[in-house]
Parts: sequence; C-alpha cells; structure tokens
Amino acid sequence: MAQIRAIRAAQPGNLMARYFDEDYFNSLDEPKRGRLLEIIRSGLENPDSQMGAYAHNDSDYEDFAPLLEPMIREYHNIPREQEIEQKHDWSLTASRCNLEDIDPGLNGVSMRVRVGRNLAALPLPAAMTKAQRLEFEALMIEAFMTLQDDPQFGGQYFSLTPGSSHAIDDAAYQRRVQAHQMFKDMRGDPYITAAGIAADWPFGRGMYVSNSEDFLIWVGEEDHLRIMAMREGGDLAALLARLHDGLEQLKGLIPAFAHSRRYGNITSCPTNLGTAMRASLHLSLPRLTEGGKDLGPARKTASGFGLSVRGAGGEHSDAGHGGLVDISPRARLGKTETAIIQRLYEGTAALWSLENAG
Ligand code: ADP
Ligand code: MG
Repeated sequence: MAQIRAIRAAQPGNLMARYFDEDYFNSLDEPKRGRLLEIIRSGLENPDSQMGAYAHNDSDYEDFAPLLEPMIREYHNIPREQEIEQKHDWSLTASRCNLEDIDPGLNGVSMRVRVGRNLAALPLPAAMTKAQRLEFEALMIEAFMTLQDDPQFGGQYFSLTPGSSHAIDDAAYQRRVQAHQMFKDMRGDPYITAAGIAADWPFGRGMYVSNSEDFLIWVGEEDHLRIMAMREGGDLAALLARLHDGLEQLKGLIPAFAHSRRYGNITSCPTNLGTAMRASLHLSLPRLTEGGKDLGPARKTASGFGLSVRGAGGEHSDAGHGGLVDISPRARLGKTETAIIQRLYEGTAALWSLENAG
C-alpha cells in the first residue's frame, strides 16, 4: 500500500492511485482482494498510467464500483450528483458535421470512428486463456465467411495466428500497420502487457477488412472486437452511418455483446465504457505542436474543448511530420454516439480557428 501512496504522490494523473482507498481494500475478502490486485496491476507496474485499471470480467464494474466508479466519473466528466446512464443514438442526419463547412481545406482529412465490443459469454481479454482466444477467433472466422459475401461489407480476414489458413506474412502485416489499418504488436505496449491483455500474442489475433477498405474489424486487441469505419473526406455523418450499418450486419452473425444500462458497452479499459466510441481525425496542427516537436500545447488547448490529442501513430506515439496529430473527444460514457461526433466537429472548428489565427 506504500507503493500506491508513492504513485499517488509522484503521478497525480494515475486515477487508480488517486482513488484507491485502503479501508475499502481491507474490507474485501481474500478472493476479491486478489481480483482487485489483478485489475490494478497495470497501474501499479506503470505509475504514469492515465487510468491504471483494466477489467477482467464484465461484472468487475459492479463488483468493484467503490474504486472504479469515481475513476470513471472523473475520466468521463460525470459529476457525483448525476446518475450514470448510457443512451444510444446514431442518427446524425440533421446535424451539421461536414468538415468542409469549417474550411474547404479540411475536406480530405483522414477520419476514423471505432467502437469496442466484447462478447458477454467470454471473459474480457485480460482474463482469456489461449484456448479461448483461439476459439473466439474461430467463431469470428465463421461470421466473416458470411460477411465476405455481403454486397456492402464483403472483404477478407487476415490472421496473425501461426499456421492459420488465413495467415498473412510479416511483411504484409507490417504494411497494414503502416497503413493504420492493423494494430501494432501488443507486446510493445507496457500498459496492456502488464494487464495480461497482450498474452499469447499473436494467437487469436487478426483483422477483417472490407473490399472498399473503409470498414475494418480487429480481433483480439484490447477488446474482443474493435469495429471501425475509416476514410479520407469530410462527411462525418456518412462515416458514422457506415460504421453503424456494418455493426448491425455483424451483430446478426455473432453472440450478444456485454452491455449494461449504466455503463453501456462493457470494455477492458474504463475510458472506453458507454459508447466505446473513439472518433478521430488526423489533423495537421504545426502551430499548436511547435512544428510537431511538442504535443503539450495542443493537448492543453484541445482539452478545453473536450478533446484528447495523440500522435499520428496512435496512442503513446509522437506528433507526425508537420505536426500531424490524432484528435478525438475524450468522453465516451454518458454521451450518445451522435453527441460524440458533434463534439469532434465543434472541437475541430475551435482548434482549427486557433491554429490559423493571426
Ligand atoms: P484506438 O485505441 O482508438 O484503436 P490507437 O491510438 O490505438 O486507437 O490507434 C490505432 C491506429 O489507428 C493507429 O495506427 C492510428 O494511427 C490509427 N488512427 C487513429 N485515428 C486515425 C485517423 N483519423 N486516420 C487514420 N488513422 C488513424
Ligand atoms: Mg488503442
């Protein structure tokens, strides 16, 4: 417990350390203490964690609410007096959300919107056995064999599982990573590795990509599934509709997702609960990043608009050439899917005018 106190003092951003209460921990029985230590292992081993906890099972959010709920409220900005409740709304047609309306020069930016999903019938990735990872991939391959004939979402599945009949070689995998389509080797991420989420890599991992290459499904990353629409353009409503249509197709082919009234879609990381949606743009902000050398000023400005800033290579990467960054609304819980896209639009308008001011 001295370790947690030290982290709290040195790393005020580590929400696990901030909200960890020794009396609560000591009130738990032995098995529950063991479970909680597994959930917070990543935050203990990585003091600079933002959250510092990953769920192992969907029941963890209720079972360990005294620790997790304050962390969740803080991250998603939900005050204590407000009930946590997740409502869904994907209808964006009437709203203004074409980036062209901000600046014609923004038409053509790289847009991506992804949601995380986990099957209710399986443990979350941190707690899966190798056999479960392989069974899950096999179940998804069955679904993809149907999806591949769909006129809108037809495509191919590429597996990283050694010996799979869908396997791709390392060079092809690296090309997909470079193209921002495929996820990186998970063992390079100390946060998810400490949580057990990268275990058994690369078994049970892979990606489905539509022939149009604008609809993708990751299998076996931080959540069982990450489903995304990605394309260059400016029409955020069309992007959201593409994801929603694909998600509806997929839902008809696989068992039910883990979901709760309060927390919406259940995800490994508490930052992703609710919509589990991260809607991002690759935006060039040379002025706010000092030519790509420092994400700090862009982060500070963007956070005032409810946006997070990542490097152009994804989480834990630096700004790209010319100050290319990834911006996305921070909150995913307690806001509808539509509200998240609107936040991205409004936030981009505000950031863009600051970037181009004076
Ligand atoms: P997430 O956790 O939402 O899946 P990551 O930060 O882990 O996102 O990034 C995953 C990949 O998606 C990285 O290759 C990243 O560069 C890419 N990516 C994210 N947003 C965009 C975007 N708007 N355009 C192109 N690629 C993107
Ligand atoms: Mg990620």
